Order: sequence, then C-alpha cells, then structure tokens
Amino acid sequence: MPVLSWEGEDMPVLSWEGEGMKVFDHPPSGFPALVLNADFRPLSYYPLSLWPWQETIKAVFLERVEVVTSYDQMVRSPSFEMALPSVVALKTYIPQDRPPAFTRFNLFLRDSFTCQYCGRGEDLTFDHIIPRSRGGRTTWENIVTACAPCNLTKGGRTPREAQMSLRRSTHRPSAYELQDLGRRFPPNYLHASWMDYLYWDIELEA
Ligand SMILES: [Zn+2]
Repeated sequence: MPVLSWEGEDMPVLSWEGEGMKVFDHPPSGFPALVLNADFRPLSYYPLSLWPWQETIKAVFLERVEVVTSYDQMVRSPSFEMALPSVVALKTYIPQDRPPAFTRFNLFLRDSFTCQYCGRGEDLTFDHIIPRSRGGRTTWENIVTACAPCNLTKGGRTPREAQMSLRRSTHRPSAYELQDLGRRFPPNYLHASWMDYLYWDIELEA
C-alpha cells in the first residue's frame, strides 16, 4: 500500500470511479504478478498487490516467493530461462494484524470513499467533526470523509450546529476491516490467472 502521510492543512480531493472491471486473457502491460501472502490471499486488495516482472524475477531468485502460475511469455538470459510469473506467493507469511496507519488513503477506505454526511462519492475531502478551531483533533475518531459541498456547508461548526448528521459513528479500523473494504474496489484490469485468488464479489457458477 502506498503510505500517504498526513501533512498540513490542504486536503486532497479524490474520487473513486468504478468503471467496471474487465478480465483479460492477455497479460497486462509490464507483465505484473499478483502477489499473494503465504496463505494465498492477496497481500493487499486495494490497491491490488502487483509487482512488475523484474521485481518478481528477483524475488524468485532470492527464494522469497513461489511461482503459482505463469504467463506464456518467456524471459531469457545466457544462464537461465523461465516463464514470467503471473501469480506468486510469499514463502513467509506477513501478518496483517498490525493497526492500520492513520493516512488519508486508509481514512477514505474506512469510509468506503463516500461522504459521511450525504453519501456522495465525488469531490471527496476530509472534515474535522469537531472543528480544529474548537479543539477538535486530527484522529480516526474526529476525521471523516466529506464531499467538498458538505465540507463547505458545515464550515467551522459542529454537526449539531450545522444540523448535519453522520451516517455512521467513527472509529479506528482494524487491518482486517480495511482489507475487507478494499475488496469492494477492484481495479479495472485483471488477468484471468488472478481470478482464483481474488474475491471481488463475483458470483461463482454452480
Ligand atoms: Zn456530502
């Protein structure tokens, strides 16, 4: 996961636009490999854990990963030849139970990329529930995802003063919770060989 640190006052505007996921038989450009944890679950869902082929080959040589499936594409050097991996699994399990970092990204994810006042998913920014001018702190409990219009409407007021109510109470999420939420945001482009290891709420045919 990219670690976006919380800096300064200016909050970025971010939107997630689901444009429909497509599954392709031909390899994505750059031949990325899906990286699974040692329990064969993706190391990360959102963003999906993918390595460029060069990094994957290096990990294979260092014996850090096992190749699960490969593309048809071969890579050759004078001393070796192998098919580029499309799915690899780490040999050592990386625990996912550390508390998530307090980052903009994780905060958006906790709130499912929706404004916690009106439910919109566009022009997203952040709101201090209790304004900083009133002693509100920058914590999991006091920050929510809010769209720019709601943010503007609320201004320097508390939700009660602004008569705007939150859709959910805020809390510090667990790593499992964020992983689970991340599964709801598939990338637009997936390779067929990855599908057995992903759970994008796809209905399995009986
Ligand atoms: Zn809103």
